[in-house]
Amino acid sequence: FLPHLIASLEQVDQTYIMVKPDGVQRGLVGEIISRFEKKGFKLTGLKLFQCSKELAEEHYKDLKQKSFFPKLIDYITSGPVVCMAWEGVGVVASARKLIGATDPLQAEPGTIRGDLAVQTGRNVVHGSDSPENGKREIALWFKEGEVCEWTPVQAPWLRE
Ligand code: UDP
Ligand code: MG
Repeated sequence: FLPHLIASLEQVDQTYIMVKPDGVQRGLVGEIISRFEKKGFKLTGLKLFQCSKELAEEHYKDLKQKSFFPKLIDYITSGPVVCMAWEGVGVVASARKLIGATDPLQAEPGTIRGDLAVQTGRNVVHGSDSPENGKREIALWFKEGEVCEWTPVQAPWLRE
């Protein structure tokens, strides 16, 4: 009874993961999805999407003052992206670890960027940096009804 109570108090978070246009063009969509799937997180939203300049600017609004901002917006809008919502305990920080450092040359081998990319401006994937931003970004990229609530059959085999 007590362990179940404690487990149920654990915070379940959501993170917004996006395969950027270079990842789509290079045929890395399956590989990137697979890393999160194998880790054991729950996919709750998935779509291929061509985003507008306005949406890209809203998503990256905290970086508006940075010199690379215009190039970043051009990059993110240069082709379709794959939008994903993932759910789980600790999913935000864990996804950032799976993704690796912003600069792919600094990212550890074994991470997505460490294994699959070489340049910061072509670093193949985005991941939210906090549970608050996870919620904000999922609400920004997905419409009502596009995120699914479901229970994977493997749930009891992933968490005691
Ligand atoms: N970026 C860039 N040049 C920089 C820093 C960042 O082009 O000097 C791009 C890069 O694509 C990065 C994105 O802007 O992924 C967002 O930057 P942030 O610092 O939030 O890195 P992230 O959270 O993606 O690791
Ligand atoms: Mg960031």
